Parts: sequence; C-alpha cells; structure tokens
Amino acid sequence: MRIDVVSIFPEYLAPLELSLIGKARQDGLLDLRVHDLREFTTDRHRTVDDTPYGGGAGMVMKPEPWAQALTAVAAGQAERAENAGAPDATGAAGSAGKPVLIVPSPAGERFTQATAHELAEENQLVFACGRYEGIDERVLEWAADHFTVRPMSLGDYVLNGGEVAVLAMVEAIGRLLPGVVGNPESLVEESHSDGLLEYPVYTKPSSWRDRDVPAVLLSGNHGKIAQWRRHEQYRRTAERRPDLLAEFDAGKLPRADRTAFADLGYDVVDGLLVRRPDA
Ligand code: SAM
Repeated sequence: MRIDVVSIFPEYLAPLELSLIGKARQDGLLDLRVHDLREFTTDRHRTVDDTPYGGGAGMVMKPEPWAQALTAVAAGQAERAENAGAPDATGAAGSAGKPVLIVPSPAGERFTQATAHELAEENQLVFACGRYEGIDERVLEWAADHFTVRPMSLGDYVLNGGEVAVLAMVEAIGRLLPGVVGNPESLVEESHSDGLLEYPVYTKPSSWRDRDVPAVLLSGNHGKIAQWRRHEQYRRTAERRPDLLAEFDAGKLPRADRTAFADLGYDVVDGLLVRRPDA
C-alpha cells in the first residue's frame, strides 16, 4: 500500500517510523511518504493560512497550497502506476479507480474498525492534515475530480490538527495489511472485530498480589475457555459499550449465550438484543 501524508508539521508523523508500522515500511509492505505543505507555497513567508470570510475567530488554510500539494501527490501516483505497467492510470484498486483522500475533521464520518478494514483494501491513501479552523471547503470540492474524498473523524472531540488523527488511522489500517502483524489470528479476536469488546486477558504468574487468574483459563478445556471468553465479551460490552449491542446479530446465538445475555438483562427479539425495562 502507498500512503501519502501532507502536513505543515511533517515531524509530527515521526512515530510512524517505529514499531510494527516502521518495520512494515522497512520490509516494503507499506510505502509511506510525508510531505510538507509549505513546500507547495510560492510566497517568501510560505503562508498556508488566512482570515476567514464572514469573520470569526481563527484562521483557515488557503486553497492553493493544498491544490498544488495534492496535484503533485496524484501526479506521482499516476507516474508510478505507468512505470509499473498498471492498466489503470491512477493505479488505485477500489473507490472508482481514484486514490482515497482522507481529510481528518471532527465534522467527518466516524472512523471505525470497519472503516480501517475497508481502507486497508485500497492501493493508495492520501491524508490531508488540517490545522487552525480547517481547510478551505473548496479544496474538498475540487479534489473530488482526482480523489475519492472522505472527511473522517476520530471521535466527538476537537484536536489541534489532523496529525494525531492520521497517526491513529494509519496504525489501525496498517496493522491490517498482510504480513504487518506476525500472527493474523490476533486480528480476529480483537475488540470491534465482531462488533463486541475483547474479553479480559491474563499472563503469568497465575496468582499475583492476592489476585488469581480465572480458574477456567488454567483448565486446559478449550471449549469452556472459548465459552467463558465469549460471555466475558458480552458482560464487558454490556457494561462499557451497550450501544454496540444494539447492532449485534444475536439471531444464531446458542442457548447458553442467550442465557448469558438474559443474566445481563437482555432478551433476544427478532435476532436483536433488547434490554428488559426492569433490568
Ligand atoms: N473548526 C473545526 C471544526 O469545528 O470542525 C475544527 C478545527 S481543528 C482545531 C483543526 C484540525 O484538527 C481539523 O482541521 C482536523 O484536521 C483536526 N481534527 C480536530 N479534531 C478532529 C477529530 N475529532 N478527528 C479528526 N481530525 C480532527
């Protein structure tokens, strides 16, 4: 996969040289380039922002440096695709043949594990890190001719810039690429992979500061361990993220699992979990 990140603080992206993502880059599984937006300005002060039309607080990122930067990134992509003999000049597999431009924004669609899986299928992602009050809206309109544009939010809070959001999104997407995580099994059992939170995990010693690991995990009975883990997923999700249970497909749950949900105050109605009013 190819990833381009455009930012006025390229050094903010340095952590992407570390750990699994850094290794994926070294191993050639991920070609990640960071570009300085100021390299695409033409004035002496390398200006990237200006006052907002209509007044109000803060500054807005100017459109022209963004158009120059994104044009250069898109041109580089087309050139690479041609050199590689790819049939499609943009070289992108999904998203109607265009690279995906992700614009971090608290006003974007929510980035989730499902989004990470979807984006991990793409050939090229471009991230445009906003600062100040954000990027002039016309950039997103103009970019739609060259990219599939997706404004994307990490959550319902406001960061100072898009860089931290990009670190999170690139890590979530990058670890799904084949070969990046050593044991692909560990991706299957994680929180959000099946719409639930993960069960609690323990390691040695089996007894620590008067706290024992649940006995079932030491039993060697794999059926019982799997059932305990599933029920712990249900309990934890009901306690911490009951909103996730509203989406959970409970239609095919075995009897023991329905009982576990009943103990948590949920009945299965038409394949969905419904919280009992008295629970
Ligand atoms: N004025 C904007 C608004 O209210 O929607 C917020 C601008 S914020 C101070 C500056 C930049 O931080 C945004 O352009 C975006 O790139 C990034 N950002 C802030 N919060 C974010 C979030 N929850 N998810 C993704 N990016 C975020």
